[in-house]
Amino acid sequence: MKRRNFIKNTALSSAGLAIGSTLVSCADDNTKTSNTVVANTAKASLPLVIATWHVEAATAKAMEVLQAGGNALDAVEQGCRVEEANEKGQSVGKGGLPDRDGNVTLDACIMDKHGNCGSVVYLQNITHAVSVARKVMEDTPHVMLAGEGAKQYAISQGFQAEDLLTEASKKAWEDWKVKSEYKPIINIENHDTIGMLAIDNNGDISGACTTSGLAYKMGGRVGDSPIIGSGLFVDNEIGAAVATGLGEEVVKTVGSFLVVELMRQGKSPQDACEEAISRIVNKPTSDYKNFQVGYIAVNKQGETGSYSIHQWFSMTKFQDGINEQIQSDYFNKA
Ligand code: ASP
Repeated sequence: MKRRNFIKNTALSSAGLAIGSTLVSCADDNTKTSNTVVANTAKASLPLVIATWHVEAATAKAMEVLQAGGNALDAVEQGCRVEEANEKGQSVGKGGLPDRDGNVTLDACIMDKHGNCGSVVYLQNITHAVSVARKVMEDTPHVMLAGEGAKQYAISQGFQAEDLLTEASKKAWEDWKVKSEYKPIINIENHDTIGMLAIDNNGDISGACTTSGLAYKMGGRVGDSPIIGSGLFVDNEIGAAVATGLGEEVVKTVGSFLVVELMRQGKSPQDACEEAISRIVNKPTSDYKNFQVGYIAVNKQGETGSYSIHQWFSMTKFQDGINEQIQSDYFNKA
């Protein structure tokens, strides 16, 4: 199913709340798609890659790296780069939807099996934010670089500066400007962080995520995705988790760290994702009907899980030669 059709089929209310879209390039009609809602807990064979949303080209790239003997860190970086370069995906890298002032600003992070991590926030004009995050991790004494400093660092490392605002995203922004309604609600076409987790042939885990964040956000806004522990967390003893959806809600519960810690306490990846979502929706003041959050997780045994607040979140999983989209179970069944 192509993304456009999928989106049309998933609008939830007259308020325009639509939950769970897929990225354009990877959702060709001939790809294998499973629509079963699953609590996916079977023991896994390695290597294994999972990612948020419908990104089969990205998981295929990551698996190619793993099958060639590459490690999980290389796999998640290379997988995320596929979507960053995909101009049709308006939530990541080049072609990402801009903030309310028309600036495309990227957030990304990466984490390895040793617990090392690197992150970039509010990065402009550099397509491969995930690779800059890796450089920050490996070649600087820091974890996080922001804004102009991150950009100048990237250029000093050989990254090319370019305009990330494509004609399509510019047009979408200009259409949005007619009303200029700032609603920090996850809506059609304004989200889809690509988060990816991999276990390599050695059984080691790494993860990465990359996003242009919430479309038409305030200038300067940073979401959960580059915040270690919120958008992503990897603990090679236990497992890893990555988030998508309204970043503010993920940050408030340090969501990915929470999922991994719940796995440490013995929960399966599926149960851990469900508990992390319940922490959000069960807050007395939670406005969860108006936003989406989704988690995916993997544990050291290669068991996986995914869960979201609303329907139509999905995970792409590549394992045992099968690269498939798996619809996530979800909380709001009312
Ligand atoms: N989590 C991202 C953010 O809040 C957006 C998304 O996943 O769609 O920036």
